[in-house]
Amino acid sequence: MKKTIKNFKLKNKRVIIRCDFNVPMKDGKITDDTRIKESIPTILFALRKKAKVILMSHLGKVKTEEDKENNSLRVVADALSELLGYEVKFCPVTHGDYFEEMVDELKPREVMLVENTRFEDLNGKMESMNDEALAKYWASHADIFINDAYGSSHRNHASVVGIPTYIPSGIGFLVENEIKCLEHIIRKPSHPFIVVLGGAKVSDKIGVIENLVEKADKIIIGGGMAFTFLKAKGYEIGKSIVDEASIDFCQSMLKNYSDKIVLPDDIVVGLNFDASTTIRVANADGIRMNEMGMDIGPMTIKKFSSYIREAGSVVMNGPMGIFEFDRFNTGTKAILECMANSYADVLIGGGDTAAAAMKFGYKDRFYHISTGGGATLMYLEGKKLPGLAAIEDR
Ligand code: ADP
Ligand code: MG
Repeated sequence: MKKTIKNFKLKNKRVIIRCDFNVPMKDGKITDDTRIKESIPTILFALRKKAKVILMSHLGKVKTEEDKENNSLRVVADALSELLGYEVKFCPVTHGDYFEEMVDELKPREVMLVENTRFEDLNGKMESMNDEALAKYWASHADIFINDAYGSSHRNHASVVGIPTYIPSGIGFLVENEIKCLEHIIRKPSHPFIVVLGGAKVSDKIGVIENLVEKADKIIIGGGMAFTFLKAKGYEIGKSIVDEASIDFCQSMLKNYSDKIVLPDDIVVGLNFDASTTIRVANADGIRMNEMGMDIGPMTIKKFSSYIREAGSVVMNGPMGIFEFDRFNTGTKAILECMANSYADVLIGGGDTAAAAMKFGYKDRFYHISTGGGATLMYLEGKKLPGLAAIEDR
């Protein structure tokens, strides 16, 4: 068990809260403020306890001086001020006199947001490479470090992994909740435990399959991944997306876990990768050379749904088809709907899958939607997240 923010005396302490304010932006405006909203419980808790709160986060990638302008956290400071109802002071630099003065002048119950930690990447990738001097410098300006940046916890950044090596550390409420939900499903799943995998590439999910295949009762494979499995069975897959390097892996899975791996029986195929291509439903073993698989077919939706309806718990990672095109979102939508209506504990992971769940209106219908794409994938692979490993145990 990791220490949490509740395990510390925060009064008059300088507390760095590492948040994940890596919000989607368009033309200088925030298009989805979910991540900002989710950070509020931890920040408010620290303010109530009379801490001096220093918020840090990265935003986008910073490779050139020009990137600084489009990736400034100033807009987040404004949005957060509004949501919190407290003034959030903005520190436009990540180190130096100005930063140090602002920290020194910070009073209990005041909160400041430091500029994008990745501005330090212009200086030899110091943030992204977890530079020791930088982490020490930031740590020297605080008494306690709280990681509430679940979505960044798979990254070996100075502001995530570096700082807590030098000062007492714990996790915030957002991270605590993510871990609780993931642990609940992964450690003690109610059976039947059904894992639904999709998305583009098998290679992205090999680790997840390997980690969960023993625990799961069924591993359902849809989306682009299915075609590498179908090819491994010797089927023609036409121009469908394939991961040649993973064919051997798929063959061994099909051989060793023939009772667990569930593949599509029919596929919505098209002639080209575009939204208006000619389509038909093909049997999984009847795809033609000039066709490409876009979505799972109606028989497959029925089969997959029948497993989900009986499930005790479900993990879904990866969409069932090219859901970005309305014509090919049927499978993804149907499977999400089936899960939304089931009694199972359903955990949705993966950036695109979470986006699909939101888009189709199932935001509040699941046990948990995990918003940390890369972090959740790493968790499902059974690996330790560096950002959590760095935090003190209770
Ligand atoms: P997540 O972010 O949830 O982990 P992935 O990133 O692995 O999911 O996969 C999402 C992508 O997979 C989407 O962009 C989707 O269009 C693509 N995809 C799904 N089915 C297919 C398919 N049949 N052919 C090509 N791409 C597909
Ligand atoms: Mg993705």
